Amino acid sequence: MALTGLGIYKHLPKTNCGDCNFPTCMAFAMQLAAKKVSLDQCPHVSDEGKAALAEASAPPMKLVKIGKNSHELLIGQETVLFRHQEKFHHPTGIAVKVKDDLAEEELTNRIEAINNLHFVRVGEEIGVDLIAVEHSSTSPQGYARVVKKVKEMSDLPLVLLSPDPKIAEAGLEVSAERRPLIYAATGKNWQQMASLAKKHSSPLALKGESLEELADLTQQIKKLGVDDLVLSVDGPRVADTLQDLTRIRRLTLSKTFRPLGYPTIAFVTGKDPFQQVGQAATYICKYGSIVVMEGTEPWKILPLLTIRQNIYTDPQVPNAVEAKLYEIGEVTSHSPVLVTTNFSLTYFTVEGEVENSKIPTYISVVETEGLGVLNAYAGDKWSAEKIGKTLEEQKIKERINHNSVIIPGLVAVFRAELEEDFGWKVLVGPEEAARIPSFLKNEWKVTS
Ligand code: SF4
Repeated sequence: MALTGLGIYKHLPKTNCGDCNFPTCMAFAMQLAAKKVSLDQCPHVSDEGKAALAEASAPPMKLVKIGKNSHELLIGQETVLFRHQEKFHHPTGIAVKVKDDLAEEELTNRIEAINNLHFVRVGEEIGVDLIAVEHSSTSPQGYARVVKKVKEMSDLPLVLLSPDPKIAEAGLEVSAERRPLIYAATGKNWQQMASLAKKHSSPLALKGESLEELADLTQQIKKLGVDDLVLSVDGPRVADTLQDLTRIRRLTLSKTFRPLGYPTIAFVTGKDPFQQVGQAATYICKYGSIVVMEGTEPWKILPLLTIRQNIYTDPQVPNAVEAKLYEIGEVTSHSPVLVTTNFSLTYFTVEGEVENSKIPTYISVVETEGLGVLNAYAGDKWSAEKIGKTLEEQKIKERINHNSVIIPGLVAVFRAELEEDFGWKVLVGPEEAARIPSFLKNEWKVTS
């Protein structure tokens, strides 16, 4: 919970000297509570006051870094319960498991498959973030060998999965410079695990039987000087895990309950792969900081990356591309001209289908404040006049030797005005982007 002006005022000198450019300490406190000024603007706060205000104004949820340099994952430090209140800041890290008892060739294939779980969607590269190396049957040396191999074959940050401190230590000895997440300290091993985390400056996950036990563990381990912690949430049913993830987020943000003010990790369970994808999607929405998956099939991972991408966009910023003339492929003066809006998803869907058609095409993107075709029409953000003027501004007629333009089928109503007022021969394209390739192959040839 954010500090109130009154809460801050208690720690100020109360002399009303005005050196902070505010007439009274209370006025300064109110501005500080609104985060419009910083504490160092008052040169007279005592060390005790600074300490109290720093502790009270620290983010309610810790930011934890896993990995190093350009291959690091930041999780936590979320500030709101609901995305529409502001935005979610650090996207859920998606981890895929590798077991240490795989045969050599199988292990190599699995690591390569994980490395290949990268895609491009709406112009953004999305992919898996971590590899979780699970100890199952080999010795500490065998586990270290597998961790080393994973580290050498992949730049992704690591999670070392074993409740045995000896196994965790063996894994750390070959990967500590990559700052892996150690999983996990429990009520039985927390002192040894915390000592390993401290020695290697690695983040540490904690696993408890209840939230109460987790809260106790964080306090004990923090006293040992380890505070880069991740809470493992692992109920007997999906509903229990979801409930615990939600309770942690609420207690952290609504009550500033610092013993649970850390990011979380959750695992998919069961054998049914569809259920696993459903579980992971649930935890991405509420409120997993890391989700650990079992499989490497793209059909399992891509939907999760898509959900994550949608949840972690800023709802206050239009998801838009620049409104301009785009050339897809080796365009010539004979190339078709398609018109669309500047909503990212619309543009990249159209662009993808044009690429699929293998017909070089101009795409004229009209400024619609980041709205899709029908929303822009309903919201009066685009019109035949706006399209006509945009085509003139983009000087498309200087690049083509025909007079045809293709508009989306959903706004066929623009056709007459574009023809009468701007002199275009208008082709009404398909309503669905998926039909663009067949439209360009069949209709465009006939008319051009
Ligand atoms: S500088 Fe500090 S002591 Fe002076 S009025 Fe501002 S808050 Fe109060």
